[in-house]
Amino acid sequence: MTSASAPIAPHAAQRPEAGARQPSLTVLEAPLVRFAGVQKTYDGVTLVVRDLDLDIRRGEFLTLLGPSGSGKTTTLMMLAGFETPTSGEISLAGTPITRTPPHKRNFGMVFQNYALFPHMTVEQNVGYPLSVRGVSRSQCREKVQRALDMVQMANLSARHPAQLSGGQQQRVALARALVFEPQLVLMDEPLGALDKQLREHMQLELKELHRRLGVTFVYVTHDQSEALAMSDRVAVFNDGMIQQIDRVDRLYEAPANRFVAGFVGDGTTLEGVVVGSSGTGCIVGLPNGVRVSGVNVNGAQPGERVLCGVRPERIELTGVLNQANTFEATVADVIYFGDHLRLRCNLPQQQDAMVKLPLGRHDIPAIGDTVFLYAAEEYLRVYR
Ligand code: ADP
Ligand code: MG
Repeated sequence: MTSASAPIAPHAAQRPEAGARQPSLTVLEAPLVRFAGVQKTYDGVTLVVRDLDLDIRRGEFLTLLGPSGSGKTTTLMMLAGFETPTSGEISLAGTPITRTPPHKRNFGMVFQNYALFPHMTVEQNVGYPLSVRGVSRSQCREKVQRALDMVQMANLSARHPAQLSGGQQQRVALARALVFEPQLVLMDEPLGALDKQLREHMQLELKELHRRLGVTFVYVTHDQSEALAMSDRVAVFNDGMIQQIDRVDRLYEAPANRFVAGFVGDGTTLEGVVVGSSGTGCIVGLPNGVRVSGVNVNGAQPGERVLCGVRPERIELTGVLNQANTFEATVADVIYFGDHLRLRCNLPQQQDAMVKLPLGRHDIPAIGDTVFLYAAEEYLRVYR
């Protein structure tokens, strides 16, 4: 699961047909976009998108999140029509579009490098998608005005891109993507070139815009905080495959595997070996002889090497060691985070544990203190 790509494999022959649905389902209940068994190779050897089944719901803000090279842009480019799947089918409201050229898909698009036309004014840039669609001059003026108002750029409509800041250029690109009222807007790291403050501001604006317009947004980023801040759902990509697609709170609270647990949010990781399992739980033996119980997330078997993950706010300081799921640790650092503190604690034969504490506790331990850390079984997630 660690290489950036996988050897090409013959695609399953007996996959159910793309878009095959129960007759009772209406078009409105069907997903807006469906990827069915989509694969992509650029060189005929390695699959950069391995076997993609993905439904995009009408009106949602869906983010494709993953490390560089995980296949996010390739997936978006196949949806936009700039790349063709090697196999599989993409459909829009039940109609196959796999071989439909990009301009006939009629999607709005925003990319990292804006790609505004430098010789056109802001107004001409935003009006361009309308003029190529043959919209009348008077209607065009009205729609451009509305789109520029929406991104608060109406007062700069006569400027050229070179006279705008990065954030302003990005707003114009957004207005240009929205001006023709597409049902689907695709964005690939559109805020990547902006500084942190402006990026966070634009995240809120995008989220608000999505709520107001009710159109479907598909957004690509490698930044987990950006994905969590804006999305209804997030598809976590790694190695050309979706590792988990879920609501943001579910991704954080209930990661489906160790990749998602490590990529989304942070926490403490304990290495061990499964010594017993029962129902949805399992018991893990740590190298120092301590045994802990946790949730058996993805079917770890006795004897298997596993990782146990706990979020920083799910570890409690406890006064006693003689209790289940408790570890003795030594405080290595006390880190001030503004709204809370974190203790970094050394554990025997393990990576450091991170513990989140509220400010204003009277009993904050000091560096060098021995502490007892408790993680309830339900918050200790065991990944094979
Ligand atoms: P991401 O957007 O998640 O960073 P990409 O979809 O851009 O990932 O890339 C996935 C893999 O495909 C990478 O290994 C990348 O090098 C490769 N790749 C992307 N575009 C091309 C291309 N046009 N030709 C050949 N390889 C490509
Ligand atoms: Mg990319």
